[in-house]
Amino acid sequence: MNIPARTATVTKLFSEQDQRDHWHAEGAADGKAPKWAKYHAKMIGEFPSPYRGGKDPLAQQIEKFVEKIDMLRPEKGGPAYLGENPALTYKYPAVKNVKINQEMGDLDTVIDDCIKLFEGAPNWGHPMTMFNVAPQANTAAIIASMLSQVFAVNCIEGESAWNVHIAELESAGMLGNLIGWDPVKTGAIYTYGGGGCFNYGVKYGLTRVMPDIRQKGLRTDVKIICSQQAHYVQQTVTDWLGIGMDNIVHVRTDEKSNVMDLAHLEEILIDLTAKKIPVATIICTMGTTDANAFDPIAKVRALLDRYPNPKGYGKAILYADAVCGWSWVYFKDYDFEKNPLEFSERILPILKQNGQAMAELSHADAAGIDFHKMGWAPYVSSCFIYKNAEEFESIHRRGENAYLQARTPYSPLYYTLEVSRTASGPLAGWATLKYFGKEGMQAILGGILESKYALVDLLDSQKDMVCVNHEDSGIVTLFRIYEKDTDAKAQFEKELTNASSRDELVKHNKLTQAVGDKLFEWFRSGKKIDGKYTPYTSYTTGFRNADYNRDGKDAEALIYALKSYPMNVFITPEVMQWVLTCVHIARDEVMKA
Ligand SMILES: *Cc1c(COP(=O)(O)O)cnc(C)c1O
Repeated sequence: MNIPARTATVTKLFSEQDQRDHWHAEGAADGKAPKWAKYHAKMIGEFPSPYRGGKDPLAQQIEKFVEKIDMLRPEKGGPAYLGENPALTYKYPAVKNVKINQEMGDLDTVIDDCIKLFEGAPNWGHPMTMFNVAPQANTAAIIASMLSQVFAVNCIEGESAWNVHIAELESAGMLGNLIGWDPVKTGAIYTYGGGGCFNYGVKYGLTRVMPDIRQKGLRTDVKIICSQQAHYVQQTVTDWLGIGMDNIVHVRTDEKSNVMDLAHLEEILIDLTAKKIPVATIICTMGTTDANAFDPIAKVRALLDRYPNPKGYGKAILYADAVCGWSWVYFKDYDFEKNPLEFSERILPILKQNGQAMAELSHADAAGIDFHKMGWAPYVSSCFIYKNAEEFESIHRRGENAYLQARTPYSPLYYTLEVSRTASGPLAGWATLKYFGKEGMQAILGGILESKYALVDLLDSQKDMVCVNHEDSGIVTLFRIYEKDTDAKAQFEKELTNASSRDELVKHNKLTQAVGDKLFEWFRSGKKIDGKYTPYTSYTTGFRNADYNRDGKDAEALIYALKSYPMNVFITPEVMQWVLTCVHIARDEVMKA
């Protein structure tokens, strides 16, 4: 192997003489070479090669280790976790009592150890994995994001990212087009999660409403408005931005649909206007994480326009937290008459309802999109998009930077929150958009929805079970199981509406929780029933309040429910049938105890 040519600065350290003394022509270290040079020789054989031809240690090792990590998958019909041992193998915090080893490690051993860390981890692609919004990532996105590590460009600025910036810029264009914004005027910043997008959305409002705060800091009790169902990241963001969590104003939501109550929003805006208190950002959740509720963003826009901020303040930003539900927008102009993808009559009305709700996304000033949720991409590939790139980028603009020069027309370093930014998110998102196209995304969403409704219909046919979220149009099914032969539908109705059934509600909440914990225990211990493994599901201890407990003052009058959140293309109606069988057996076991 040849010793690679070195850059100018490195040549000074390793002179021609050094090279002759320390290494042989094929790259191996001379026996008399200093120890560092021996290490160096080893690294040259193991680092990715800068040149083509010959053997590339990276390419060889990746193939080998992807095959090895793939061996953690079970045989067909195996459990929904990876490897052989489903147990947690570390003790906390004792696990941290560890030191860096003195000698340089062995590459294969390190990667083998890395693979061992995946023992017992959930297998997201497994048909029985349905515990939360944790999707199996698509192949195009996994490869694209892995490739970003090989030549690790930095999306901070064009000199480093060069043409890889196209991934971010074309994401802006494709997503802008999809939503109904002018694609060329749309901006996009890939960032650290749905929380990062929310942070950008709220900051956009602060900067537009009170430009002075960029220099002088926040001195006003400015408000952030979101619904009672908005994601808890509202607290993280108002806390870290220094707005203060007390400055979040919550709009009531409809008990059944979980959607923002516009009359209450108007009351809030009238009150703030009268008191001359400014609003930085109004957040519409476009697809809550479980219920998939879409706030009526077009009407929120109209109210925001009707009640401008007091004099001296800029106009509030309307941010759409669409991180979870964003891809339903793919159904906004699906041809429901011709139904080209041939979805069943059962789900067509649901697809239409979701598509229509998301058609209103165009009213937002900015939105958050998680490709790692309903985009089937790996972490972290969240994309903050904004309608008016010129405005956003100019009002957040910071000055020139002494050690970075603008070599290309696209220089996000001047306005982003992060400094260095990986290309792995932009490439994962961009590859997903290009790989699925419109119909691929519609097919994956619709296909999973078909399995979801197979589960709902099955539940409806079980005497002792009840689906408690019939109103929801997402892919989550929430359900309860009762004692054998109970008329579950009638019993649940009583518990939901009747204060005199409170004790029964609490008792059956405990049963729900016990069944949920039993299922988790079975999953985590690799239990088999009739030779088959059990599913990986979860449960919620607060899906909604009982009707007589709207204000939530009674901490126990809440509806617990078992949860199925299918998120991969291997889910089938047969798997759903098996889930219910296991739930029945778990119920019997819990009742015996
Ligand atoms: C998941 C979620 C978030 C937080 O997103 P992360 O990607 O986990 O940071 C915010 N809002 C909603 C509606 C979510 O579902």
